[in-house]
Amino acid sequence: MIDFEHHDIKFLPGVGPQRAKLLADEMQIHTLHDLLYTFPYKHIDRTRLYYVHELTADMPYVQIRGQILSFEVEGEGRKKRLVAHFTDGRGIVDLIWFNGLKYITSHYHLRTDYIVFGRPSMFNGRINIAHPDIDPADELRLNTMGLQPYYSTTEKMKRGGLNSRSLEHFTATLFKLADAVIPETLPQYLVDALHLVSLDEALRHIHYPNNAEELRKAQLRLKFEELFYIQLNIVRYMRDRRQKYRGYVFSRVGEIFNGFYQNFLPFELTGAQKRVIREIRQDMGCGKQMNRLLQGDVGSGKTLVALMSMLIALDNGYQACIMAPTEILAEQHYVTFTNFLKGMPIRVELLTGTVKGKRRQAILDGLECGEINILVGTHAVLEDTVNFKSLGMVVIDEQHRFGVAQRARMWTKNENPPHVLVMTATPIPRTLAMTLYGDLDVSIIDELPPGRKPIQTLHQYDNRRESLYSGIRKQLNEGRQVYVVYPLIKESEKMDLKNLEDGYEQLCRDLPGYKISKVHGKMKPAEKEVEMNAFVSGETQILVATTVIEVGVNVPNASVMVIENAERFGLAQLHQLRGRVGRGADQSYCILVTKYELSADTRKRIQIMTETNDGFEIAEADLKLRGPGDLEGTQQSGVSFMLRLANLARDGQLLQLARETAEKVLDDDPMCAASKNDILWKQLTKLKKENVNWGAIS
Ligand code: ADP
Ligand code: MG
Repeated sequence: MIDFEHHDIKFLPGVGPQRAKLLADEMQIHTLHDLLYTFPYKHIDRTRLYYVHELTADMPYVQIRGQILSFEVEGEGRKKRLVAHFTDGRGIVDLIWFNGLKYITSHYHLRTDYIVFGRPSMFNGRINIAHPDIDPADELRLNTMGLQPYYSTTEKMKRGGLNSRSLEHFTATLFKLADAVIPETLPQYLVDALHLVSLDEALRHIHYPNNAEELRKAQLRLKFEELFYIQLNIVRYMRDRRQKYRGYVFSRVGEIFNGFYQNFLPFELTGAQKRVIREIRQDMGCGKQMNRLLQGDVGSGKTLVALMSMLIALDNGYQACIMAPTEILAEQHYVTFTNFLKGMPIRVELLTGTVKGKRRQAILDGLECGEINILVGTHAVLEDTVNFKSLGMVVIDEQHRFGVAQRARMWTKNENPPHVLVMTATPIPRTLAMTLYGDLDVSIIDELPPGRKPIQTLHQYDNRRESLYSGIRKQLNEGRQVYVVYPLIKESEKMDLKNLEDGYEQLCRDLPGYKISKVHGKMKPAEKEVEMNAFVSGETQILVATTVIEVGVNVPNASVMVIENAERFGLAQLHQLRGRVGRGADQSYCILVTKYELSADTRKRIQIMTETNDGFEIAEADLKLRGPGDLEGTQQSGVSFMLRLANLARDGQLLQLARETAEKVLDDDPMCAASKNDILWKQLTKLKKENVNWGAIS
């Protein structure tokens, strides 16, 4: 039997040391196993033969059978080309080559039966086929009459004489060699139960399917396997951790929580907020350590849920801490909390990078002796000098702004890890959450506080300033406030800043009589704060800003969000920005200003924004448009790197099946110790060797 994994590719007939080096350098193909798992990126149906007289210039690929009547060199210099007059007995078509003339004439012969494959086109008023594939008709390989695989190659490989066809030859040779069955990598009982095809069949058919159905079955089996092993690892890791770490038991919901709920809560909680708080209470009371992801659209009221969860920790004699990604946001949480809790005997403090000296020391002391109940802060709270007396609960706001490592650091602040609630307004599609945050339970706030009117989103080209300004003026005259946001991208910081300055000046000119704040990343924090506060307090009516305002600021009186150069923002970001308005009871507007010429993708993004306010829908669309590799959080985890076939955007259902299957397998055999599961161990160990960082995924 062939040992695919250790059989050097250079020993495959037709490869040899030179080509082996190219394959290794360019495609990371070192062994027969690597070649087996280098899948074609497409197949072309070669089951049908056409007659020459049927060919038209708009056909994609066609295949004809016949003989070359004569060769002829036409044209001069760079236009020099080789023409072969080809006939199937009913008509004549020209095959054309612009290079490799010598090779063609010496390689192909007159009056010999060939199968010619290529794309017909019109040239000099006649149908012809340029650079066709030609195979001797009597040498039909097993695939020539089925679906033909196409493999990606690199320029360097092509220069070294290796193209898709060469790879096709190699895989064909490999399968001829491999009479033996390729050993199964999933337990047989799963293959049977799920009606999957065997690995052997799947691998043969993913390269050489006889029809589309065989190809689909092969892909399904291989995709499932990819997803299944990821899920098996995540579920195992998650269960293991739950066993190892005991969570604090917050059994009491007492004076503080109830007192706040009855006497200080300024409004009725939404149904979704109530449900989520119940989920959190249950988690924190049951003895396991809570690790919960709270997803809720911008403005859905996550802050209040965070606060009330923290009060449960306080009721049980513990401290709580909330961490935000920016100073502005941390400050705003601090103000919100102190306002909500006014009149209650709770000490809240703010710790950011700008808190220094005596003030800082006082906070550190207060945390250590337990006098401070709630700490609000930025990354600054992660520093080693920050020690709590008894930290029982941590909230991480806008979790996508933090790395997994930072989340983990909060655990070490205690003997036992505190309960952790991570919150995000950038909804992560379910399929991605299951892969990235496999060990997090997920709560969702899918309801906005009552009385909010859906934001109206409009698209406007940037040459129509006057109508834009008249709309803004109308809102300003009604006493409302307006955001105008400019993109800020590192590479062109100077240009962006100039755009912002120009825009600011234009607004000053065209909207005289209104006060305008200006905030951007190049300003000193103190300056920024002055400008922000002027807007928050209503002293200024317009805030011109770069994306520093993206997360969290809350100005319910603001009713218009103008996003300049909207084509330069991603969907998630546009949605975040839009969420800054629509926080009061009046109608709000989001105006996406773009240049006139837009790519198809950008148009799609703008269209999605004008059609829906639903963050989850937008996140799904984003995943489909960009692919999971580009979404925040996926890159570090390497998840997209591991998936050769499965696509998180498209294969959601299969992922669900993989997850459920993994859970069932582990319910039944937690240690995978049964002999029927031997194969699982073997595969898991192998995946570990392939350097997948499971810790980073969960
Ligand atoms: P986000 O989920 O984006 O963090 P916030 O927590 O900032 O949203 O809440 C947005 C606004 O809605 C705040 O002004 C908050 O006080 C208000 N809010 C929260 N919950 C309710 C509720 N149940 N009823 C009315 N307003 C609420
Ligand atoms: Mg928030």
